[in-house]
Amino acid sequence: MTFQDLNLNTPLYNALDDLGFTTPTPIQEQAFNVVASGRDVVGIAQTGTGKTFAYMLPILKNLKFSKQDNPRVLVLVPTRELVVQVVDEIEKLSKYINNRVLGVYGGTNINTQKQAIAQGIDILVATPGRLYDLALTRVLQLKSIQKLVIDEVDVMLDLGFRHQLINIFDILPERRQNIMFSATMTQDVDLLINDFFKKPERVSIAVSGTPLDNIKQIRYNVPNFYTKVNLLVQLLQDTDQYNKVLIFVAFKRMADRLFEKLDEYFKEELCVIHSNKTQNYRLRSIEQFRNGENRILIATDVMARGLDIDNVSHVINFDTPEYAENYMHRIGRTGRAEREGEALVFSTEKEQDAIENIESLMKMSIPVLEIPEDVEISTDLIEEERPQIRERNNPTKRKDEDAPGPAFHEKSEKNSKENLGGSYKFKIAAKYKKPKTRGDKNYNKRNKKK
Ligand code: AMP
Repeated sequence: MTFQDLNLNTPLYNALDDLGFTTPTPIQEQAFNVVASGRDVVGIAQTGTGKTFAYMLPILKNLKFSKQDNPRVLVLVPTRELVVQVVDEIEKLSKYINNRVLGVYGGTNINTQKQAIAQGIDILVATPGRLYDLALTRVLQLKSIQKLVIDEVDVMLDLGFRHQLINIFDILPERRQNIMFSATMTQDVDLLINDFFKKPERVSIAVSGTPLDNIKQIRYNVPNFYTKVNLLVQLLQDTDQYNKVLIFVAFKRMADRLFEKLDEYFKEELCVIHSNKTQNYRLRSIEQFRNGENRILIATDVMARGLDIDNVSHVINFDTPEYAENYMHRIGRTGRAEREGEALVFSTEKEQDAIENIESLMKMSIPVLEIPEDVEISTDLIEEERPQIRERNNPTKRKDEDAPGPAFHEKSEKNSKENLGGSYKFKIAAKYKKPKTRGDKNYNKRNKKK
C-alpha cells in the first residue's frame, strides 16, 4: 500500500513528499478509514509507529478551511514534551494547508497563551491541566470542538489525570468524535473506555502471538504475593544465571510493595521505575540497569514501553498480565539479538484465566514447574488477597464491592449496559466461550499444612 491508496489531497501529498514518506506505516494504514469515518476509535500503538500521523492524516484531510476562531480539533497529551512533538508533526503535515495550530502546557505564562488563543486556532494541542485552566478563563471556547484526540491515554491515566479528563469531557460538546491512542491496554484504559465512549472501534497492529524460539518460557503456580516474593528471592540468589532481570508488575502500588520486599535482600542490585518516580529517578534507574550497575529492575507495563535494553537474561512476570498482548510485549524484552532468554510467569489461582488467554494467543501452553521444596509457602495475605466479607441478599449493597466508584458523569444508557463494573473477565469469557478451569486445585491441598 502507498499513500496514494488513502485518497488524500494534494496539500497532504506534497507535505508527505517533502518529508520523503511514501508508504503508510501499519497503524496509519489501519486507522485511516476508521478515523475518517467519524466513529469513536481506540488505537493501540506505541511511540515510533507513526501514530501521530495515523490520527492526523484523516483529520487534516477532512478539516475544512474556516475563518472562525474557536478550535475544532483538540489533542490532549500527558506531557509538555509531547505537546511540542505533536505540534511539530502537525505543522510538518500542514505545510501546504492554511490552518492554525497551537500547543499549550503548564509551567509557562498563561497570559501569553491566552493572547495566542485569541488570535484564533483550528487545532489545539494541550496538557489537561492547562487546557482546563484556559477553558475556565473563557478566553478559550470549546463549543466548536468536533474531534477530541487523547494521545498516550495509558500514561495519562497512570499519571493520575483521570479526573482532569472527566472534567474536560464535561465542558466539551457532546456530539464529537473521540479518538484515543494508547501504547498498552491497561485496566484503567478499559474502564475509561467503558464509562465514556460509544462502542469505539479498535485498531491495533496485531501483536504476534508467536514468541521467539530462543525465549524459554516457564510458569509457576504460586498461591499468593508473599510466596511469590519467597520464590523470587530464591531464584534471584543465583547471580550467574539471573544476571540481568526485568521484573514486571501491573500497578505502581505493587511495584513499590515488591521493591520494599526485595530491598531487604538485594539492596545494591535493585531499582524500580513507575510513574510516581521523577523523570530523573527513572532515567537513572534505567541507565544503572542498562550498564549492569543494578542487576534487577522492577517496572510497570506503562513505564517499560520503549525500554530498549539488551542482554536481559530473564523477564519475570511477577503477576500474570490480564491482557495477553502485554505478556508478548513483556517477554519480548529478553531473547533479543538471538541470545537465549528466559521468561517466567508467576500465577495465582485467580490469574488462571489470564494464563488461558495468553496460551490461546500463543497457541501453546507454558510448561509448569513445581515450586522448589525449600521455598517457604506463606499463608499471609496482602489486603487484595483477603476474602471480601459480603452480606447476602442485602438489596441496598452493591453487588460487586470491587467495582469502581460512581463516575462524575451520567453514563449514556448504552454504555451503562455495556459496563460490567470493569470486570474484564466477563468479556473474555464471552469472547473465548471457554469453560473455566480454576487452576491446580490439588496444589492447595498439597500445601495446606505448610
Ligand atoms: P510517532 O509514532 O507518531 O511518534 O512517529 C514516529 C516517527 O515516524 C516520526 O518522526 C514521524 O515523522 C515518522 N513517520 C510517521 N509516519 C511515517 C511514514 N509513513 N513513513 C516514515 N516515517 C514516518
